[in-house]
Amino acid sequence: MLFSETYIDVILPLGVPNMYTYHVPDDLKDQLDIGFRVVVQFGKSKLYSAIIYRVHSNPPKAYMAKDIQMVLDDKPVVNENQLKLWDWIREYYMCHPGDVMSAALPSGLKLSSETQVLLNVDVTIDPSILTDDEFLVFEALEINQVLSLDEISKILNKKGVYPIVKMLLERQVIVVLEEIKTKFKPKKEKYVKLNSVYQEEVKMKALFDELLNAPKQFAILMKYIELSQMFSGEESAVKQKVLLDASGASSVQLKSLEKKGVFSIQEVIIGRLGDFSDEKGKDLVLSPSQQTALEEVQSNFETKDVVLLYGVTSSGKTEVYVKQIEDTLAKGKKVLYLLPEIALTTQIINRLRKYFGDQVGVYHSRFNQNERVEIWNRQMSPKGYDIILGARSALFLPFENLGLIIIDEEHDSSFKQFEPSPRYNARDSAVVLSKIFGAKVLMGSATPAIETMNNALAGKYGLVSMTERFGGVKMPKIVIADLAKAHKKKQMQGHFSSQLMEEIKGALDRKEQIILFQNRRGFSPYIACKTCGWSPYCTRCDVGLTYHKYLNRLKCHYCGFERHIVKKCEACGSHEVELSGFGTEKIEEDMSLIFPDAKVGRMDLETTRSKNAYQNIISDFEDKKIDILVGTQMVTKGLDFENVSLVGVLNADQSLNFQDFRAHERSYQLMSQVAGRAGRSSKQGLVIIQTYQPEHPIIQQVVAGDYEGMYHRELIQREEFGYPPYQRLIRVILKHANKEKLTDSAQLFVDALQSSFGSRVLGPEFPGVPRVRNRYINQIFVKVENAASINRVKNMLVDHMVVFKQNKVNSGVQVIIDVDPY
Ligand code: ADP
Ligand code: ZN
Ligand code: ZN
Repeated sequence: MLFSETYIDVILPLGVPNMYTYHVPDDLKDQLDIGFRVVVQFGKSKLYSAIIYRVHSNPPKAYMAKDIQMVLDDKPVVNENQLKLWDWIREYYMCHPGDVMSAALPSGLKLSSETQVLLNVDVTIDPSILTDDEFLVFEALEINQVLSLDEISKILNKKGVYPIVKMLLERQVIVVLEEIKTKFKPKKEKYVKLNSVYQEEVKMKALFDELLNAPKQFAILMKYIELSQMFSGEESAVKQKVLLDASGASSVQLKSLEKKGVFSIQEVIIGRLGDFSDEKGKDLVLSPSQQTALEEVQSNFETKDVVLLYGVTSSGKTEVYVKQIEDTLAKGKKVLYLLPEIALTTQIINRLRKYFGDQVGVYHSRFNQNERVEIWNRQMSPKGYDIILGARSALFLPFENLGLIIIDEEHDSSFKQFEPSPRYNARDSAVVLSKIFGAKVLMGSATPAIETMNNALAGKYGLVSMTERFGGVKMPKIVIADLAKAHKKKQMQGHFSSQLMEEIKGALDRKEQIILFQNRRGFSPYIACKTCGWSPYCTRCDVGLTYHKYLNRLKCHYCGFERHIVKKCEACGSHEVELSGFGTEKIEEDMSLIFPDAKVGRMDLETTRSKNAYQNIISDFEDKKIDILVGTQMVTKGLDFENVSLVGVLNADQSLNFQDFRAHERSYQLMSQVAGRAGRSSKQGLVIIQTYQPEHPIIQQVVAGDYEGMYHRELIQREEFGYPPYQRLIRVILKHANKEKLTDSAQLFVDALQSSFGSRVLGPEFPGVPRVRNRYINQIFVKVENAASINRVKNMLVDHMVVFKQNKVNSGVQVIIDVDPY
């Protein structure tokens, strides 16, 4: 009978605007439910694994529903709460369901005909456990390296290869290609162990005798016995480095013992999910002001769902979070702890593990897909972590019984994803997630976003302040180095004012550490011919190339285009091509030249590409293996180093001169945050801000630590010009390779939008970099008053988009919508 047929609406992993309805054959009816993956055909011959969104009995009106090919899972991979969050993100940020799915699911859970797989080099495979089909795939991959699911299907001569691939993925025999881009080198350490035959006393005695004439080798053995505690009955392997250091022997001498079969040496990967359980349970006593803050947070939670903890840098917000987490766990609920930056997770995780041991799981985009799928699956099981710590993608993990979301450094722009769609803000989405669970949200910042503070002052959020640093430590002293003056008085050494130079020298002499902040990577961002002014530009983007000295190449920071360095002007032939301006790489080099005895480290996009790079730089700095750390905004965020006494902001003007309405707010946050890295224990720290605009109100407010002043001044301007929090912004971005065509189309779009929204429409305009990857860009802004219905505006906007796309003259013009773009 027709009405008893089963249909499902599925989300495809594609940028298509809708969900699609498929028919479920009778024999599969009882095998599926919401959140399961099914394999479906879409288009002529492509197969995809799609997620079931809804099960119902209504055939689609517009098309004949195809049958699904098979059911991939025997339990859901996504729960209904996750689907609710996906819904909200899709609607609010005006994107496709498949976009959200792509952002949310680790690639190991997304499969399509085009998905390419390869053998997992991290795991040694015992082929005898494989089924015949699995073995065929394994063998084929040994020969071909990479195969698409389509190709596997041909090799096995069957259509239903998804379950086989899924099995191989689960057993970690294979991995999906796209994830391999960030190849990382796991951290390894050599361990030494004594051959077990020497547990026999006779053998040991014989060994002693044998080594009597080899004093160094004898010393190694003696030290091993001591360090491994073998006679206490709990022998453990000893780190090679520790053993050699302690015995004063060389690795050659150890090697010869290895050759004799006395020791075995093994390389061990330092694991990510190590066993931390014995670290757990450290006592934490809050200071009186922390205790007061905690009590205020809790009493605010009685009436408010969101509380802002506004505490100066180093006031000890993390410890207040820890107590609130304990409180939540005691009620049997789970916690999500969001951070804006992966670099920060590596430091906070160590702090959290002191209290919560292995109850904390970490999740972010630097993990490879096996690790991500592993955590995902654990979250789907009853054994999910009590606490998940992560950067923005952690929002998408499955949760059960979530009671608290912490959003640390809530003001940070990294919570917003710009590219690709969904262009979501993880802070705002987290508030929505909390509503789904009825959970509480605790946001923290020393420099709250204007909107957040506005919500707090309006009573929508609770507000708790901490005005002093933990342990009575003073706020750092902030001074300005006036660059114009310094240049005039010839008090500049390269890019450094004499003031900064002296302080660096002093700090080095006192064995204190230094952070230098420059928000530009590479060596020199400006290259120009002294004769005619010509500069090398990217061939694909309208932007100058940055010189990277280590690579000895010019690089485009927008598209990655690279070319060799120019020695001769390509316009006039002059040989006087000059490098000017400076990025982190240049500062690093300058510091090493000026202070040859200092160890200089650098933290920016270049030096942190691999998975553990952050961890290594941060622990080197903590272990004082680095004296001067040069970095981009990565070094400004929430890191806690006890021995940093000096922070230098090399060029404050850069961020002040940005165009968008948030430039001043962001500059204030950036400078105050980087300043907050100084003097976090005992001694008062010093911050030197180099600028050409010493009178700029933002600079003055940073010096005075006057957040309130900044907030009120900003608020007046936001109201006057109609920006958040008074009005919302939707940005429409149009792209096309042909400039005229683009501007014509953009004007058409603006005219149409103005017919509905009048003067609320601004643009079209070219952004700061008008062409990227060979495509010109125009942007249009639609402003929406808070009182207006944003949903109505969005619906009308979508209608205009449909009309726009149907008009042939606009064919090929890409339209992107970005809600709350900044
Ligand atoms: P914030 O996050 O507000 O910048 P942190 O939480 O990083 O501040 O605290 C600053 C420093 O003070 C850290 O090194 C932290 O370990 C220490 N600290 C804060 N509260 C306590 C406490 N109650 N007991 C011991 N140390 C604390
Ligand atoms: Zn020239
Ligand atoms: Zn480019």
